[in-house]
Amino acid sequence: MELINQEQLRNFEPQINPAATGALYAKTAGIISPWELAIALAENAMDNGVKLFLNSVVQSIHKENSVFTVKTATSVFRSKIIINAAGVQAAKINDMIARPAFKIIPRRGEYYVLDKTASGMVHHVVFQPPGKLGKGVLITPTVHGNVLVGPNSDSVPDDEAIETTAAGLDYVRQKGLRSFQNIPFHKTINIFAGLRAEPDTGDFIIAESPDVKGFINVAGIKSPGLSASPAIAELVVELVDGILPSLKPNTDFIAHRRKAYHFAELSNAEKTALINIDPRYARIVCRCENITEGEIVDAIHRNAGATTVDGIKRRVRPGMGRCQGGFCMPRVMEILARELNRDMASILKDRPGSQIITGTTKTNSVVEYEEATIA
Ligand SMILES: Cc1cc2nc3c(=O)[nH]c(=O)nc-3n(C[C@H](O)[C@H](O)[C@H](O)COP(=O)(O)OP(=O)(O)OC[C@H]3O[C@@H](n4cnc5c(N)ncnc54)[C@H](O)[C@@H]3O)c2cc1C
Repeated sequence: MELINQEQLRNFEPQINPAATGALYAKTAGIISPWELAIALAENAMDNGVKLFLNSVVQSIHKENSVFTVKTATSVFRSKIIINAAGVQAAKINDMIARPAFKIIPRRGEYYVLDKTASGMVHHVVFQPPGKLGKGVLITPTVHGNVLVGPNSDSVPDDEAIETTAAGLDYVRQKGLRSFQNIPFHKTINIFAGLRAEPDTGDFIIAESPDVKGFINVAGIKSPGLSASPAIAELVVELVDGILPSLKPNTDFIAHRRKAYHFAELSNAEKTALINIDPRYARIVCRCENITEGEIVDAIHRNAGATTVDGIKRRVRPGMGRCQGGFCMPRVMEILARELNRDMASILKDRPGSQIITGTTKTNSVVEYEEATIA
């Protein structure tokens, strides 16, 4: 960390509020795409033999003779160890098998996403001094060239309250304008909210339950849980090792996943070569982000592949651009339906219940009506 003066700050960030007289500069800070990280890790886990069960809500946990039984609506799982990493739901999962030991308070954070044409305004992650509720409102470029402004930090009673609010967004806007007086909010292309899992114990809870051997809580992983996740994983490995020392590292571990092509980032020669191998890379589906059919098909057929419109959006970005999917969403749905051999009407936006098509408006059958008589 380094203290920088006003001149250095203005060299880094020419559009910073002139009232800012200096800053604390963290050279090693970085930005990532959170979805791409999580999806890459899930894919790599599957490449190494992990089985993924989506849409499987844990309903009960029991333990008998050192073996846990976990039930979902459709399946029963048995295991010697359980790792509870259920985010804002982690206390509910803990309470299914262990004495209540902590509460999770969902804390909502809301953001503005600005169009890529705003990207020149900020070059670093610009924080303000943190407050009691966290690191405060920041303005940052994203890895894909948009600008992100947010978040606020509001405790909410409902652990599904991911809606944005006028008051929350107004707070973010007012705070953001203290760092940069000319944030082009008219270039907003989306707003969103997420819930942090704030534990009432104050800090991350990464420990075996004191009353249920083999049940490990990885709970209350509030911000910066993503940055901390590699270190958290190492700690969990130590805990598992302590409980089941007979487990051995996988000597055949595959450390890298198969390369995914981002067509828009390739040189012309690389694009031509790729199209010669697979002509689906020549068909642009998303015009805003220049995403090809080839990339979408690949995202469906990888391990931990996409099955929904938002699943595709988070992996390869159609729908992340200025039109927010207005143009490409029907085409993405067609590709999903074709590749997964499913009916278009069954393709979801995201979670169960998020149908996009509710029925057909045109049929092949002819319905004859009596001519209306105008009196
Ligand atoms: C507004 C905001 C800003 C943030 N900023 C940063 C940042 O700048 N840097 C940073 O490092 N981190 C940041 N974070 C924090 C980071 O996103 C979290 O720490 C991280 O996502 C926590 O991961 P997790 O796996 O513990 O929980 P989650 O990602 O919430 O995953 C929990 C999973 O459990 C599943 N689940 C829940 N209940 C059940 C059940 N009954 N059965 C089956 N599955 C269940 C859920 O579906 C979900 O998939 C931010 C978070 C928010 C909300």
